[in-house]
Amino acid sequence: MAGTLVMKFGGTSVGNAGAMAQAAQIVKDARAEWPRVVVVTSAISGATNLLLDSATRAARGDLSTLVEVETLLLNNHEAIINAQVSDPARQAQLKQEIARMISNFGSLCRAMGVLGEASPRALDAVASLGERMSVRILAGVIESIGVAARAVDSTEFIITNTTFQNAHPDFDATTIKTRAVLNPLLDESIVPVTTGFIGATPDGAVTTLGRGGSDYSAGIIGAVLPADDVWIWTDVDGVMTADPRMVPEARTLPEISYSEVAELAYYGAKVLHPKTVRPVVDEGIGLRICNTFNPTHPGTRLVPNLKTNGKTSKEHVVKAVTAIRKQRMITIEGRGMLGVPGVAARAFGAVASTGTSVPLITQASSEQSICFAVPSESAAPVLSALERAFAAELEDNDIDRVWATEDVSIITVVGAGMRHTPGVSGRVFSQLGDHSVNVLAIAQGSSEVSISMVVESQDTEAAVRSLHELIVK
Ligand code: ASP
Ligand code: MG
Repeated sequence: MAGTLVMKFGGTSVGNAGAMAQAAQIVKDARAEWPRVVVVTSAISGATNLLLDSATRAARGDLSTLVEVETLLLNNHEAIINAQVSDPARQAQLKQEIARMISNFGSLCRAMGVLGEASPRALDAVASLGERMSVRILAGVIESIGVAARAVDSTEFIITNTTFQNAHPDFDATTIKTRAVLNPLLDESIVPVTTGFIGATPDGAVTTLGRGGSDYSAGIIGAVLPADDVWIWTDVDGVMTADPRMVPEARTLPEISYSEVAELAYYGAKVLHPKTVRPVVDEGIGLRICNTFNPTHPGTRLVPNLKTNGKTSKEHVVKAVTAIRKQRMITIEGRGMLGVPGVAARAFGAVASTGTSVPLITQASSEQSICFAVPSESAAPVLSALERAFAAELEDNDIDRVWATEDVSIITVVGAGMRHTPGVSGRVFSQLGDHSVNVLAIAQGSSEVSISMVVESQDTEAAVRSLHELIVK
């Protein structure tokens, strides 16, 4: 089954009439070279936020902005239909479908207003509407330029568990259904245009794969079909060495390995949803990130992890630098913790009970403290959970205190070659020292593909810029 390409368009790539036309043209061009093309799309940019904000407001009893949001969504979607769908009958039909979905959205919000509650399940039903609207319009726009296309809700074939808002796919069931739904269309040279982000439980309840999950949808579909290549169309020229808003000399990396990109995504580079890579790598499928607004740029190719065998060329050492802002370091300290088994397990159990994920952990070998980062907004609930979990130890002074810093940033340098290159961390720290950046904590990823440092928030730019200088031109 050679020649299958999955292309995913992000929210900005379908965000207005011009972008949507551009995306459709990209599909047409790809269709000229690939016999089988599957399109996955996000909601138009901003739609998911609008939908979810309205739902949570409604659950608090605030319906004051609902009509405004309904009108805004209707106008934004209709503007694209008016501009890019040529057939009047098709236009009318699409507008009717969009109006139906927006009225569905209004009803769901009003129901939440009455109940005073927004369950994860109800939130997924609301959030899914953004993609359900965008696929219909994109399919219409693609058809308008002469390519056979069909909108398909991925609820028909992405089967997940019932973890609403962060559902996990059942790959076996998804494989069978995806092939059954998409192959007949592909066999007839029709381009399926399917919803990213959403799936359904075996009982048919709509789920979502987590915010930003459309990339993951493309990875899943690519893996189960299987496709030869998965291309992620976004609004930047691929994966960059740093955020260009912070580092003007940042540039596109022509290639990056799977483990490097996973590390980058985990540490704040918003190029690719972190879960996307795994299913694709496992199947040996090609993955590329490219720019809808600069489609001739080659973008970034994902390549298998480098087998460096100790012979790393210089350019592989430091490849990219990221920053995650608005974190706080939580410290649990006390001499009574020395050698006591289970303290860390209890600490992280308490953190997990608040639903917080921990991006970075450091422990001094003296075992007198445990220190980790959490997003700033989670610091207060995490501290209370820890105080509850260690109430007895705090009472007995085995633990002296549990405290949080002010806002800090986590700076991460990524590069697979670092593991075989002596002295990289030395260079990293002297570079920071030369630029008067004080390092509050350090963690090295166990994969040795990255080194992360915690710095004060006012040092974020200086840290990123100075570390970017270590990237060999
Ligand atoms: N529309 C969804 C979101 O905003 C999924 C995505 O864009 O990938 O989170
Ligand atoms: Mg997105």
